[in-house]
Amino acid sequence: MSEAVSEKPKFDKEALRRKYREERDKRIRPDGNDQYVEIKDQLAHYLEDPYVPRTERDPVTDHVTFAFIGGGFSGLVTGARLAEQGINDVRILEKGGDFGGTWYWNRYPGAMCDTAALIYLPLLEETGHMPSKKYVYAPEILEQCQRIGEQYNLYDNALFHTQVKELKWDEDASVWRITTDRGDDFTARFVGMGTGPLHVPKLPGIAGIESFKGHSFHTSRWDYDYTGGNPEGAPLDKLGDKRVAIIGTGATAVQCIAPLAEGAKDLYVCQRTPSSVDARNNHDIDAKWFEDIATPGWQMRWIENFTANQTGQPADVDLVQDGWTDISKRVRARIGQLSKEEMTVQNMMAAYEDSDLEKMEEIRARCNEIVEDPDTADHLKAWYQQLCKRPCFHDEYLPAYNQPSCHLIDTDGQGVERITEKGVVVAGKEYEVDCIIYASGFEVGTPYDRRSGYDTIGKDGLKLSDYWADGMRTMHGVHINGFPNMFIVQATQGANLISNYPHNLTECGNSIGIMVKHALDHGFNEIEVSREAEDAWIKLLLQAPPMMIGTTECTPGYYNNEGHGWDEGVTGAVSYPHGPVAYFNYLHEWRNSGNFEGIEFRKTN
Ligand code: NDP
Repeated sequence: MSEAVSEKPKFDKEALRRKYREERDKRIRPDGNDQYVEIKDQLAHYLEDPYVPRTERDPVTDHVTFAFIGGGFSGLVTGARLAEQGINDVRILEKGGDFGGTWYWNRYPGAMCDTAALIYLPLLEETGHMPSKKYVYAPEILEQCQRIGEQYNLYDNALFHTQVKELKWDEDASVWRITTDRGDDFTARFVGMGTGPLHVPKLPGIAGIESFKGHSFHTSRWDYDYTGGNPEGAPLDKLGDKRVAIIGTGATAVQCIAPLAEGAKDLYVCQRTPSSVDARNNHDIDAKWFEDIATPGWQMRWIENFTANQTGQPADVDLVQDGWTDISKRVRARIGQLSKEEMTVQNMMAAYEDSDLEKMEEIRARCNEIVEDPDTADHLKAWYQQLCKRPCFHDEYLPAYNQPSCHLIDTDGQGVERITEKGVVVAGKEYEVDCIIYASGFEVGTPYDRRSGYDTIGKDGLKLSDYWADGMRTMHGVHINGFPNMFIVQATQGANLISNYPHNLTECGNSIGIMVKHALDHGFNEIEVSREAEDAWIKLLLQAPPMMIGTTECTPGYYNNEGHGWDEGVTGAVSYPHGPVAYFNYLHEWRNSGNFEGIEFRKTN
């Protein structure tokens, strides 16, 4: 009895709900995703690569067994799995100057991964690398990418600073023809695409953005020549006499604001919506401890344990114990308090809400505990459910506001009003600055061919952009009818596990390695999912319960199409209905049975 009383929420639920609604409503804009501008024409310089100089080379005009578009985790794990199957004739094409994908581009100061390195970094067991910390910084992640590239000889055939122009199925020869912006024109028996969900930087469509006369760049193209310092954490020593504005307070800004506040004479943080920032609690990994846990099969055990804990599935132990598993364990504990009779969907949702309100109250209290100025602390509080936006975890972000150099310019949900020759205008007041840094994120929800920079032409001249005009259609998120010998490596229409994205990619890579080997061993030169199997998969996905994230109840952001929600029908078919653990189990059986149900293997010539 007393236990039940002590579990009662200690806050005014109705008042909080009202506050959440008010804060959301004032941020909804009719232009939704169109508020952002595509980076092109006179803005194209924001896309230039500041990291690796482009070198000239001759075009390639040969044939390979497997071409993969994208040199991030997707291309690397798939290339590694193909190499393990004895397929070494793999060419990775990458628009950056090296492997790494996201971690090639995002070298901003303080960049790190919010997911524990032991489960996030791909192929740790295969490469024998021990992460230095529980959460590692970007340079170590980039090094792991390069390590994989070297170990599996993926550098030999790779084409960097190369943008695919077109991918076209050659029906007579059963091969893909690939052309690029470097004049390459070659064929591949199979292709993979891992162009990533968040890789095209976007700028806010703020009036006057082109008029600024000072220096400016996007966080994913950090200009260390201007700021001083380096990705390894050296101080930004060229900013000592500079006034800097940063636009955005998402997961990226939360990581780079502390070093900026440390380095700049004045830092103006232009905030539209505060992020929820919980504790990080990072620590070094002890080599002896690691030796004990790193027994054969350790990484997959850790990955699967995290996925089970994070998605509310039974697990004896929580190996990772981080903010992600904490969210899930709290919800489960609350639901566990319901009696059998009380176990209705409504009560479960109410238990989820209670758990979330309690967590968010803690996170808001953290602002007051850490930030000395009470007004600044109040403006840093996030008024929405934790999964409405990307949850952040950081121990230096909030203390940065105690530095005299760091000024929070809260825009009350309205964003920066204008950019002038001299700086930024918020609520009618101009802040003169030397530099503007755009921490404004990446394109989401724009057409896939705009983001990837090319269209894919399958059987009978069918364009993928047309095939997907009413929404993505695949089986497993990987196979598309009408596009033989092609695999997409990503999470949507599969497990869709966002807390540890590489788990999705590794599983895709595992399937592709086995399927290509099967085709080559048996002399099949075409692999294609049948239309019936693709339809059945979409039908299955549509049975999934509504997503917890991405609802229009949430404050606007890229999770919910800037507050406008996602269309229903095929577009809503995003996740396997029984959850990530069940999906990975299913996929494991599917590929290891040797039947590959739904896929046709053909000999055509
Ligand atoms: P986000 O899209 O999350 O954030 C963009 C920011 O720009 C938001 O704060 C947004 O405000 C703000 N903004 C947009 N327009 C304006 C405007 N007109 N005036 C003022 N502010 C504006 O981009 P990020 O680069 O921060 O993060 C992208 C994703 O990258 C993350 O969600 C995460 O998935 C990933 N990431 C992962 C990390 C990891 O640890 N694994 C680390 C860093 C990033 P508003 O919120 O109001 O829209």
